[in-house]
Parts: sequence; C-alpha cells; structure tokens
Amino acid sequence: MADPSTLTLDADVLVLGGGPAGTWAAIAAAEAGAKVVLADKGYVGTSGATAPSNTGAWYLPPDPGRREAVIAQRWPGTLGLADRGWMECVMELSWRRIDQLADSGYPFPVDEAGRPYRANLRGPDYMRFMRQLVGRAGVRILDHAPGLELLLDGDGRVAGAAGRRRNSGEIWRVHSGAVVIATGGCAFLSRALGCNVLTGDGLLMAAEAGADLSGMEFSSVYGLAPLGSAVTKGLPFFWASFTHEDGTPVETQGDRAGTVAGALVQGRPVYAVLDRADEALRGWLRKSQPNCFLPFDRAGIDPFTQRFPVNLRLEGTVRGTGGIRLTGEDCATLVPGLYAAGDAATREDIGGANTGAGGPNASWAIATGALAGQGRHASPGGRRGGTGGASRLERRGSAPADVKPLASLPTRWSAPPRRRCFRSTATTTAAGRGSTPRSPCWTGCGGRCATARRGPAATRSGRARPPR
Ligand SMILES: Cc1cc2nc3c(=O)[nH]c(=O)nc-3n(C[C@H](O)[C@H](O)[C@H](O)COP(=O)(O)OP(=O)(O)OC[C@H]3O[C@@H](n4cnc5c(N)ncnc54)[C@H](O)[C@@H]3O)c2cc1C
Repeated sequence: MADPSTLTLDADVLVLGGGPAGTWAAIAAAEAGAKVVLADKGYVGTSGATAPSNTGAWYLPPDPGRREAVIAQRWPGTLGLADRGWMECVMELSWRRIDQLADSGYPFPVDEAGRPYRANLRGPDYMRFMRQLVGRAGVRILDHAPGLELLLDGDGRVAGAAGRRRNSGEIWRVHSGAVVIATGGCAFLSRALGCNVLTGDGLLMAAEAGADLSGMEFSSVYGLAPLGSAVTKGLPFFWASFTHEDGTPVETQGDRAGTVAGALVQGRPVYAVLDRADEALRGWLRKSQPNCFLPFDRAGIDPFTQRFPVNLRLEGTVRGTGGIRLTGEDCATLVPGLYAAGDAATREDIGGANTGAGGPNASWAIATGALAGQGRHASPGGRRGGTGGASRLERRGSAPADVKPLASLPTRWSAPPRRRCFRSTATTTAAGRGSTPRSPCWTGCGGRCATARRGPAATRSGRARPPR
C-alpha cells in the first residue's frame, strides 16, 4: 500500500547530490531552461568532500603549452589509461566555469601583485556560494533527502528517483526526464573528513538500474591523519618528518605515502612532526588550513615541535578513482536517462590508474557536472518517460530498516589498510599476516590472468569520447 506521506514532484532533471558536481549540474540544466530538483543527503553547501576542504583546481587559461605541460607531467601516473581529449576538455570547462564563478561575484583572493588567484577553491566559501547560485537559478533544493532508488519506466528508462526526508521520515518521489547521479565517491563509513555521507549510494542505485562500474581496482586510496582524527588533508605533511616509535627516521625514499603505509600495515607505529615548516610557514598553515590544527589544539599538542602518531583513513574513490562508467560525451551511462558526474563517475578518463587529487578531481566535478546538466536531455519537458510505478520504498511502508549490522560488513572489509592498501590474494583473503608489494593484478593469479598479461589497460572498455 502506498505511504500516505509522500512528497511528489515533477522535473525535467533530477540531480542527486549537491557537492560541486551536483550543483554545477543543476546550474547547467537550469541554464538550458530545464525545471530542476536537487536532492541531497545532507545540507547543500556543507555536505560532501569539498565543503570542509580546500580543493586545488585546474585553472589553466587556454594556453596550449601550459595545458600540455600539465598533461605531460600527469601522464606517466595514469599508466596510459587516461584520455588526452578528456583531459583537455576538463581543463577548458573548469577554466570557463571558474571564471563564471568570478563573474557571478565569488570573492577569489588576490596575490601580492593584486592578481586574482583562482586555482584554489576554499571549500566552505565555495560550496556556500554554489548553494546561492543554485537558488538564484530557480532550482528546488531538497536538503536532508537522500535518494534511495531510481524509478524505471516499462522500457528500462530512468523516470526519476525516490528517497526519504531524514527530518520528517516522509518519502519523496520525483518524476523526471533525466537523473544525474552526483552522490560523490565511496569511502564507506571511514569517518574521513567530509566523507561521512559518501557511502556509494549512487553507485548502488546505478548498478541496480543496469549501469556498469569501471576502475574500482583503483579505489584503495588512503589519507594520512593524526591518530584518532578525521582530518586527512595532506598539505601539512609536506613539511613533516616521520619516525618509528624508537625515534629512528622512516626512510621514505620517494614514495612517502607508500613507505609510511607499509610500516603502519606491518603494525609499526609511525610518528610525524611538522618540523620542516619555518616560522612564516607555520603561521600561514594555521591560517589557511585551520581545521587541520583542531585535533592538535584539542589534544594540547604543538605539531611543529612535538611528534604525534599518524594513521591511515580510507578515502576510497573520493581521492582514488573508480565509479560509474560514462558512455557518452554528455556523461550518459548504459541506462537511458541516467547520467553521472563528479566522484560518482569513474575518473579514469583524466586520472587513469592514479588519484586525481590536487586539481583534477575538483575540475572533473565541475566539468562533468556541467556536461551532465547541460545535455540535450535538459531541455524543458524533453524525453520524459513514464512515472516508474510504485517505488519499493512506498511498497515497504515507512519503517526504516535496521542497517547497522549490514553496514558493519563492508566497513570490516573495506576500511582496514591491511586488506586494501597493498593488495594481493594474500592480503585480501588473509588480512593481518603482513603486507606484500602492490601488484597491477590483485587477483592472485601470479601473472597468469588476462589482466596481468595485458596490464591494467585490460580493465577498460567502451571509453566515452570527450566533447571537442
Ligand atoms: C580532505 C580532502 C581534500 C581534497 N583536496 C582536493 C584537492 O586539493 N583537489 C582536488 O581536485 N580534489 C580534492 N579532493 C577531492 C574533492 O573533494 C572531490 O573530488 C569533490 O568533492 C567531488 O565532488 P562531488 O560533487 O562529486 O562529491 P562531494 O563533494 O563529495 O558531494 C557529494 C554530495 O552527494 C551527497 N549524497 C551522497 N549520497 C547521496 C544520496 N543517496 N542522495 C542524495 N545526495 C547524496 C552528499 O551529501 C554530498 O553533498 C579532496 C578530498 C578530501 C576528502
């Protein structure tokens, strides 16, 4: 029986998720004249990975030399899995949309010469501003309203989505011609900064509807954090010295994160002290990254002079890659009417096998958000299918399931670095008995399977073409 307390809305485009990707998608769709609803699990403007962070972005004016230099520097880390066309496209759209922010009144800081500095987006200000832009564009926002299932019409085309309003328990249901999944990455309940809402809901909904995922073998990214803290921001660690418990230095030899992770996975505690930062830098770090210092201030530690234990926290596809595979230049997926953007979509096209942290991720969210929102499907009344029939939520009634026991299972499997950081069959199936080196294939085939023979490129198929 249908739940009587259901909020039912109609839209041309429904966007799930209100981080940078979702807000840019909503704005682009509204610019195209579409009636747009944006539903977020949390509060648009403070929810998701960008809101509490500072994200560096690709802000490269159209100077082919500069853009090519960035691509050349990133290329080896992609293991050849990225697509230059997509990288160029993301750079271009990111540059244009960041300028649009400035034209709309976003207060970018200026450097000593008075020039605006636009290659860094201060998360809390940026996302607060994006909420304002979304409001100005006439988009209807549903806060605290997680999307829980996609609605399909009789032809298997996406016809909207349904979810629940967390404050009232009411079910919401939006009938729409297109749905953009911008629900962020998956760092399932790892408690990393900004990631508490990033449980991969969009990946599940898309997969249930028939979309496919790609690049999930590159989703094991961990961030360093002071032990017990959620803050995985990496910047202060550039000026860190790392030591073992007995005070001997951790020899990092190039791959600092890998070496520190190796020691931690072997059960050897690692300590850090930010003693490489000079006085001026210390002041600047405190000012520019205030939330990095909260855990230290609370514990009464001066991180510049006193060493503190560090730990790894899963950031998953938020800073790694892997997600819904895009099949078209408008960020379409295998399912008609379903589009994906930002961390919810696999970022292999610009990052390949590597993390896109430090600029590409933020720009991917901007560019794919804009592309997913502005597609032909965003035209008013365009391609509206059926209503999708009664949703499973409505059929089940209003009693929410007890998810705690279910949630602990993926957490146990996905969070511990022992299981995921250095993968092989040995570490995946018998976690806890030490670490083995990273391997391009983690199936334990000993180099015999097709993936190992052909290299990681074998994991890709049906690459979407970027718009030219
Ligand atoms: C500490 C940290 C620092 C980072 N620094 C950088 C950097 O310097 N440069 C860079 O390029 N990238 C950086 N990143 C990565 C960057 O933050 C992400 O790539 C970016 O936030 C992706 O945007 P998004 O909109 O796809 O996802 P998010 O910003 O995570 O937003 C996802 C939104 O979806 C909502 N949501 C989730 N599930 C549902 C659901 N079921 N229904 C409705 N809504 C839902 C969430 O509430 C959230 O608002 C950093 C990440 C972290 C964690």
